[in-house]
Amino acid sequence: MSNVHQPESMPGYSLPKYAYRTPPEISQRRTNTYPVIVVGAGLGGLTAALELASRGVQVVVLDQDDTVGAAGLSSRGICYAKRSLEILERFGASRRIHAKGVTWNEGDVFRGRERLYHFNLQPETDQRFPAFVNLQQFYVEQYLVEALQRYPEADLRWKNRVTDVSSEKDSVTVTVKTPDGSYTTRCKYLIAADGAHSVVRRKLKAKDAVSALFETAWCISDVKLTSSEPGLRKVYLDSPLNDGGAIWYHQMADNVWRTDWQISHYADPDAEATPARARQRLRKLLGPKAKFELIWVGPWRFRRRYLEKLIHGRVLFLGDAAGQHSPFGALGGNRAIQDANNLGWKLALVLAGKAHADLLQSYEIERHQATREAVDVASRSANFICPESTGQQVFRDAMLDLARRHPWARPLVNVGRLSVACRYLDSPLNVADQEFNAPLAAPGMAAPDGRLDRGFLVEKLQGGFSVVYFGNRGPKLGVQTLNVKDNKPLFKRYGVPKEGATYVFRPDGHVLARCRGVAGEFARAAIEGVFNFKNGNVKRANQSPRSTENRDGLYDRFSAYFDGVPGKARERALARLMVALAHHLPASEVEEIIQAAQADAARRPAASRRRTRSTPRRASKAQ
Ligand SMILES: Cc1cc2nc3c(=O)[nH]c(=O)nc-3n(C[C@H](O)[C@H](O)[C@H](O)COP(=O)(O)OP(=O)(O)OC[C@H]3O[C@@H](n4cnc5c(N)ncnc54)[C@H](O)[C@@H]3O)c2cc1C
Repeated sequence: MSNVHQPESMPGYSLPKYAYRTPPEISQRRTNTYPVIVVGAGLGGLTAALELASRGVQVVVLDQDDTVGAAGLSSRGICYAKRSLEILERFGASRRIHAKGVTWNEGDVFRGRERLYHFNLQPETDQRFPAFVNLQQFYVEQYLVEALQRYPEADLRWKNRVTDVSSEKDSVTVTVKTPDGSYTTRCKYLIAADGAHSVVRRKLKAKDAVSALFETAWCISDVKLTSSEPGLRKVYLDSPLNDGGAIWYHQMADNVWRTDWQISHYADPDAEATPARARQRLRKLLGPKAKFELIWVGPWRFRRRYLEKLIHGRVLFLGDAAGQHSPFGALGGNRAIQDANNLGWKLALVLAGKAHADLLQSYEIERHQATREAVDVASRSANFICPESTGQQVFRDAMLDLARRHPWARPLVNVGRLSVACRYLDSPLNVADQEFNAPLAAPGMAAPDGRLDRGFLVEKLQGGFSVVYFGNRGPKLGVQTLNVKDNKPLFKRYGVPKEGATYVFRPDGHVLARCRGVAGEFARAAIEGVFNFKNGNVKRANQSPRSTENRDGLYDRFSAYFDGVPGKARERALARLMVALAHHLPASEVEEIIQAAQADAARRPAASRRRTRSTPRRASKAQ
């Protein structure tokens, strides 16, 4: 691609360069079988290495590059969710992310020239971390590298490119290319965290369950403003500032803003990604007199893809190597971090001989579900922002029309469902539940947070098993035990009944089991159940709760119906829906919707002329 703008430094910051060192396999002609090799020092690989090294596991991390980020100062990820911050806090990274990044909770959604509505996410106030923090991905990766360098158990090797992998019964053999030539090494387990273009995936011929490329191309133009602006997130749909396409506008650190531009189907994405074109577009958005400096410009497209299975012999896939999807909702990097957090403690227990290797099957079950959900959720957002069929377009427009006037319709506007902790409600590790008035603290859920003593509950639960006795003192069990008395917000979140409650948490902070009253033996048995977990044939649950539970599913159902059913039958069904709706809504609201529809019909010819660029196309099959 010619004339790109992808530098490695900006005023006040240069990407770090990490030194290459000749590996012992070459300098000392030493061969070794390491407990774990991680391929890829991105968000997923670095977190996995931290999870293992912090538990005393010797881990070698191989990365083909000698810096963080991708293609210069490209940030890719900008938005880090509360759950990721809870996980990374154990390594001292989250307070750095929080301090450097931008916390925001307000935003605007525009359609055409009109601001449809303003939102304020009003985060809960008694939580250790906000719902999310915006920060360039290269900063986050740098903090993780610096955290990992503090562990003698970790050997982080830059400029070590993996070229071949073969998985045998009890080990994995890896071939690595370096500036000093190639070497071969072995490990008991290999974590494939080598991103979207995973060599490990290719070498093992790991099959995808789903793979399709979305047609829509985008162009990132990260830009440093000289003026200070309120940290609002703005989303523009059908924007005349971008020939009828969408635009994202998000603040990151250093007063750098992510602007992301949907590229017309008819334009050449590379030609649209020149600095000159980026400046032209930015002038329209920021005004002719705005002062700004381009930081990074580049086109991108996304694939909807996930592996049939995450575990291939002794190779465990995570992050983008396991699945890819649109970035709407900031799910990718946050998922990679949660994958690593889920895998780390299980693999450490297996390697220490404390748990049977079958425990890893629970990684497959829990995180394959998380990957499928992320692909579903992010694809649905992508289809809302850039509809790919007539039905999707019709229902998206209907939701936007309604959202303009009716606050109840605004949650239906799907410009990205932000990353949250996965719910492992079907996990085979969960202990059967008792009656509790707290569904958000059921076995499989990530622990709800709240103030405790001078800190927060969740920060105390990361790393090892924990037992928390709410309302009473309980016996110590050789794991961390906490006694929580008189704490109304926590008692409410955990549905603590009169007789008190015993909660057991996994090392990743998810609820394992809960029981009324003081139940030391119950807690001990729940933890031993994990150590003794042995069921190589556990079936994966096929449902994907987040998709079916939330109302976004209706968007799929309605638009598929619209696309698949011919005119008359469709009108009859829509009429039935209108009548049913009128039964539940005040007559004035129904009247208002009808009048708005009539006014819209009168405007329609002009509106449809303006949107000729978004001729819907279907996602094409992967090549
Ligand atoms: C435009 C855009 C916006 C995004 N926004 C967000 C967001 O706001 N929040 C969010 O959470 N996510 C976001 N994402 C997604 C996020 O960037 C990825 O999901 C995340 O980087 C995945 O992490 P990973 O560790 O799995 O892979 P990667 O970050 O891709 O890391 C893979 C690593 O493997 C190394 N590697 C590759 N091949 C080899 C090899 N053969 N040998 C050795 N090393 C190798 C690479 O050098 C790299 O360091 C966004 C993505 C895009 C494109």
